[in-house]
Amino acid sequence: MRAETATGALLILALLLGACTAPEPQVARRDFFAMGTLVSVSLAGLPAERAEALFDAVEADFAERHRQWHAWEESPLVRLNRALPSGDWVPLDPVLTPLMAPAIRLSVQSEHLFNPAIGRLIALWGFHNEAFEPKLPDPDAIRELVAADPRMTDLELDGERVRSRNPAVQLDFGGFAKGYTLDEVIEALRREGAAHAVVNAGGDLRAIGRHGDRPWRIGIRHPRADRVLGMIEVSGDESVFTSGDYERGFEIDGRRYHHIIDPRTGWPATGSQSVTVLHRSAAVADAAATALFVAGPRDWRRIARRMGIEAVLLIDAEGRAHLTPAMAARVRFAEPPPPSIVEALDETPRAQ
Ligand code: AMP
Ligand code: MG
Repeated sequence: MRAETATGALLILALLLGACTAPEPQVARRDFFAMGTLVSVSLAGLPAERAEALFDAVEADFAERHRQWHAWEESPLVRLNRALPSGDWVPLDPVLTPLMAPAIRLSVQSEHLFNPAIGRLIALWGFHNEAFEPKLPDPDAIRELVAADPRMTDLELDGERVRSRNPAVQLDFGGFAKGYTLDEVIEALRREGAAHAVVNAGGDLRAIGRHGDRPWRIGIRHPRADRVLGMIEVSGDESVFTSGDYERGFEIDGRRYHHIIDPRTGWPATGSQSVTVLHRSAAVADAAATALFVAGPRDWRRIARRMGIEAVLLIDAEGRAHLTPAMAARVRFAEPPPPSIVEALDETPRAQ
C-alpha cells in the first residue's frame, strides 16, 4: 500500500516536471516577400501538412492583392488613376471596390491626415519606385498639388462606377492596403480552422489565439537604433502597426526625406519618428498609424479620439515617448527606456 502510494506520487511528480519542462509548442512558420516587405506567417497547433497548405494560400493571396493594388506597375489601380482626371464616370474594378468605403471613412475621421488621394504627391517625391533617387521635387509643383487639395471625399461612388470631382485625385493605398490584407488573410485562416496565428508584414501584424500556453510576443523596433524599443504581448485578436520615418526615404545634405507625406504641406511629416497603434482591425490600425504620424506630438490625441484608437505610442522628433494609458499598460520598454509621457486622450498630459 505504501509502495503503491510512493509510485503514484512519483508518477504525479514526473508528470508535473514534464509539464514544467514541456518544449515550446509546435509553431510552423513561412517567410516570403510581398508588398515590398518580408511577410512572416506563424501558425501554432496545426499538423505540419495543414500548415503548409495554409501557407500556400496566404502567399498566393498576398501576391494577388499586390498585383491588384500596385500603385505604379500596371494594375487595376493604375488603370483607375489614369481614368480619374477626366472627371467622367469610370467602371470600378471589383478588386478595388471593398477598399473604397473604409478608405473614405478613415480619411474623414483622420481629418484627411490619412489621405490615400495624394498619389500625385507621393509620385512627385519619387516613392512610386523600388529604388528612389535622392532628389527633391520642384517646390512649385508641391505647392500646386497642395492647393488642389485632393481628398477621398472628392470621389463619388455609384455601385460599380466612380468619378472624381477633383482632377488632382490619384489613389495610393500604401498606407492602408497591408492592414486591409492582414484582416482578410486572418479571416480566411480562421475560416480554414486556424485558431492561433500571426501574420507579420514587415513588423506590422495581426495575431489571433496564443503561442501555446503564453501570448504572442511582439517586438517594436527602435526608430533610431538597431534594437527593439519594447515588447508587447498579444493574445486573443489584435493588430500592432507602426509607421516610421526610417522605413523608406533618402538623404540630401545630411537631411532625411521619408515616405510619409503631410497632405497639408506636401512635405514629409515632421514631429514624429514612429507611431505604434494597437487595435483589433489591422486596416484601422494601419490607417491610424499613418494619420497619427502625420498629426505629430501636438495633434495625435485629437485624431486618435476621432478614429476610435485607444492604445498609441508616439516617439517624437526628440526621442520622447508619448503613450496613452492603454498603451502604457501593455508595452514593456527595453533598457534603456525612452523618456515617457502618459497622455490620456481626454485630459492634459501628465509627466511620468
Ligand atoms: P505607412 O507605412 O503605413 O505609414 O504608409 C506609408 C505609405 O502610404 C507611403 O509609402 C505612401 O505610399 C502612402 N502615404 C504617404 N503619406 C500618406 C498619407 N498622409 N496618407 C495616406 N497614405 C500616405
Ligand atoms: Mg499605415
